Amino acid sequence: MTTKPFHKPGLEYSNDTVLYTGSFITVDDKLPTASAAVVKDGKFIFVGTKDQAETFLANNEISYRLDTQFASKTIVPGFIEAHMHPLGAALFTARFGYAGQIERTGEGGKVLTACLTKQELSAKITSFVEAHNSAGKKGEWLNLWGLDPLLMTDGTVVDRDYLDSLCNDSPILFMHASCHVCVQNTLALEKTGYSLDDNPTFVVRKNGRLTGEINEMPDILRAVAVGAFDLGSPQDAITAMVGYADSASRLGVTTMSDCGMGLPQNPYPLYQILADMPVFKARMAGYALLPMFDTEALKSFAGQDNDRLWVTKTKYLNTDGSIQGFTALLKKGETYYNGTESGHLHFDEEKMYDDVIHAHKLGMSISFHCNGEGCTDVLLDLIERLQNEYPQPHVRHCLEHNQMVNPEQMDRMAKLGVMHNLFGTHIPFWGDVHATQTVGPVRVKTLNPFQTSVQKGIPFSIHCDDVVTQVNPLFMMWGAMNRKCVFSGKVYGEEECLTAEQALHAVTLGAAFLMEKEHMIGSIETGKLADFAVLDANPLEVPKDEVKDIKVCATALGGEISLYSQTQTTPEVAEAV
Ligand SMILES: [Zn+2]
Repeated sequence: MTTKPFHKPGLEYSNDTVLYTGSFITVDDKLPTASAAVVKDGKFIFVGTKDQAETFLANNEISYRLDTQFASKTIVPGFIEAHMHPLGAALFTARFGYAGQIERTGEGGKVLTACLTKQELSAKITSFVEAHNSAGKKGEWLNLWGLDPLLMTDGTVVDRDYLDSLCNDSPILFMHASCHVCVQNTLALEKTGYSLDDNPTFVVRKNGRLTGEINEMPDILRAVAVGAFDLGSPQDAITAMVGYADSASRLGVTTMSDCGMGLPQNPYPLYQILADMPVFKARMAGYALLPMFDTEALKSFAGQDNDRLWVTKTKYLNTDGSIQGFTALLKKGETYYNGTESGHLHFDEEKMYDDVIHAHKLGMSISFHCNGEGCTDVLLDLIERLQNEYPQPHVRHCLEHNQMVNPEQMDRMAKLGVMHNLFGTHIPFWGDVHATQTVGPVRVKTLNPFQTSVQKGIPFSIHCDDVVTQVNPLFMMWGAMNRKCVFSGKVYGEEECLTAEQALHAVTLGAAFLMEKEHMIGSIETGKLADFAVLDANPLEVPKDEVKDIKVCATALGGEISLYSQTQTTPEVAEAV
């Protein structure tokens, strides 16, 4: 344990002292397993055996309640998701039409089905258009999300002409699952004012005509500025976030992050309201977006942090794009496996330096978006320059995704003290398309090199990047332990699989470390916040292919228990509309 102070409490915790029994997997090296834990004022005050706990309570004259309801269950630290976009995920789920190729859960546990063929996709979009028109919204923006054209089984091209064929009297913005690309119909292109004068890298054209595909945030936000993706009122956002946190809690999540707090607007005041609401079942780590938050704004967070909401890290997004969107920056001279040219940096290195230097000088850690191998080189150069000019030995700069990182780059990361947060759900969902289209059958085996990270001693977590894929830590553990694609069942890179212990560490203490909160959360340990998930099977003991099928029976946030019975943890694939 470090001596770093806790934040002040964000909520009143129960005054009861409770002795819980069960099979605890603590993720604490000093005491890896335990059969009892005592919770008081939202924290663990003792972890060990039941006899030891009773002796401790008697010696300290603490009256308590014995709770044996989880005696036959496995109890692990509450899961921590160190890279997600919960506000976007919550609002998209609550307000926009999901037309993705992977099934996910919507508001109130409603299943959002997948569509994998042109027929299924067209039927789904048509139903959204009809609902839009019946609500009297003809002519207003129709917002759709979740598209990944590479996962369409019949190769359907989703462009402006396809969307026009389904709807030409309301502007449509259809966001890709990657959130780096969208496609718009003709009316939307006209309303926003895209033209052939725009940069063709980002506003795509073919045969001298715009295709409707818009790449990367700066140009996508132009449509948002003229009315697309209306996110609703603050009350809409609060309702959506409470519902979203409840869904995450049902999957054992106790701490969420906003790894890009500020996109497109600053949600911090909203998060402060949520952090005071007991019905909001999560802690929140905000990563302040750069350069939106200047030095004064960054400094102001420190005095306001509490154990339900903190902003101790920053995020820089304007680097490269996504691999499946073919916008990630590859090594110089390389192309994608299918011949597509490498993506580009959003801005040059000097602009990137100018955007982040104030956060580095303050000693705040920066999480850099990074997908392509070429981008890893650029960012390691940038971090080296920052550290040479203004040494900050304690910062934990982090490369987010860093999916194509190679062993030499990892050696450099280790030297520079840089960590990474690898994409936990990419191989399970995009393994096949990476093997056949983006990076090829050899390179796919080393994407997201989990095991090499362990071997090279690089601190890491794994993440879902919700809205990109749904938050679901047990499924993500399964993904990192099996590296199997759910579509074909093929395994990509057996050598990079994690053991169950390593995978559990990655979604608990590993994530806490990346958040710089390993003294507060991430393990079941005396003095830490009493966040835990109660499972119906032991993830260290079940066959590794069954980890995704483990059910969460209950989740505790600061000792406050929410009981769940029928939680579904395995996403179904290939359901028809
Ligand atoms: Zn992200």
